[in-house]
Amino acid sequence: MRSTRLPRRARVSLSHNESNASTTPSLPSLPFAPDATSFAELGLEPRLLRAVAALGHEHPTPIQVRAIPVALRGGDVLGIAQTGTGKTAAFALPILQRLGATRTQARAGAPRCLVLSPTRELATQIRRAFDAYGNHLGLRTAVVYGGVGIQPQIAALRAGVDVLVATPGRLVDLMAQREVSFGALSVLVLDEADRMLDEGFLPAIRRVAAALPRERQTLFFSATMPADIQAIADRMLVRPTRVEVAKVGTTVDRVEQSVYFVEQEHKRALLCRVLDRPHVTRAVVFTRTKHGADRVVKQLASASVEAAAIHGNKSQNARERALARFRDGSLRVLVATDLAARGIDVTGVSHVINYELPMDPEGYVHRVGRTARAGADGEAISFCSGEERARLASIERLIRMRIAVAESPRDLVTEGPARAQPRLHVPREVARPQGPAHPRRARSWS
Ligand code: AMP
Repeated sequence: MRSTRLPRRARVSLSHNESNASTTPSLPSLPFAPDATSFAELGLEPRLLRAVAALGHEHPTPIQVRAIPVALRGGDVLGIAQTGTGKTAAFALPILQRLGATRTQARAGAPRCLVLSPTRELATQIRRAFDAYGNHLGLRTAVVYGGVGIQPQIAALRAGVDVLVATPGRLVDLMAQREVSFGALSVLVLDEADRMLDEGFLPAIRRVAAALPRERQTLFFSATMPADIQAIADRMLVRPTRVEVAKVGTTVDRVEQSVYFVEQEHKRALLCRVLDRPHVTRAVVFTRTKHGADRVVKQLASASVEAAAIHGNKSQNARERALARFRDGSLRVLVATDLAARGIDVTGVSHVINYELPMDPEGYVHRVGRTARAGADGEAISFCSGEERARLASIERLIRMRIAVAESPRDLVTEGPARAQPRLHVPREVARPQGPAHPRRARSWS
């Protein structure tokens, strides 16, 4: 199992919600050592420490250092963090400890903890994390999401559940069928709140929230905190501790990023050559559309490179099969659209390849976050055609750095104006403030 170093520059800021003090008064003091560096120092009990050690986590990540002590004493947390920061353990570990301390028989359809997640993949991963960290506690977990039969989920709920992980739509269905109720609920987690909003889950979340006991602990996580998300947080949280890591608009420090200027018609050949490099051991290739993802898989197949696509038109089974193979290493290349890739938690992704640049510059940050998870190194390679130059400029403005230009293989360079080096508009004053994480060298093709 991979061991983890703490990120080199852990940009963590913590405040007791000073920014929304008008609606949620701040806590008076910091009750824990902010520089704790072992899980034991955070106050976790031996059974959890054993599970964490078995998973190869040597040190808590910054969000774990900040959030775990607060959550352990029952406080609300407003976490601003992307996936890859260790945020799942930041909420799962303290929840497991609190639930494990008051062992009761798991009740049918009456979870003590509810975790809301925007996608099935993320929900499944969160459930898996609860099972792994709670390995020695004997608590019961279940996951429910749409797009698959409801009966097995009903059976799991009836068998008794302590921790229920759910996507909002399916949960509302189960509530309507009276298969789930919240009389025993003591803790709610909202994960990736900004994604929930993107996916139109707000009405479902409101319905769920209205059915929950007011007396409860709430842990709320979002990668971004625009005003609409802050407004929801203000309504759901009581005197939260605000914990912020790796601010949005910055890419993961350890990812080496480069861009090839290549016209659309040459991208296919370039992709084959990039995937041919020996150090590309596990790659996620991003396309903008589902159709584009299928096309790339076919093109790779004709070049004898096995790949599988995951996107919204694929059945849940096909997506899960592809992810499982990707995770166990039998599939090296996964081709994904942005939506399908949300929450993919696979460690050891060596490369993220942006076959097409995302329309939305924040999408770039989320894509790049698929590699370099929890402190590992990773590489992000983007293919940028003439039509995509404006998108690249927006991305560079957002991440506040220029991406190193890699030299395209000679035979894939289009003659004419498209070959000219791009003039990217990045104001000098927004050049990367802390210095580059990696030397900004251009990779030469050899
Ligand atoms: P998350 O941000 O919750 O999506 O977690 C990303 C990945 O980091 C998961 O694969 C976790 O297993 C892993 N992880 C979480 N906490 C740690 C830690 N303290 N040390 C090493 N890996 C961790």
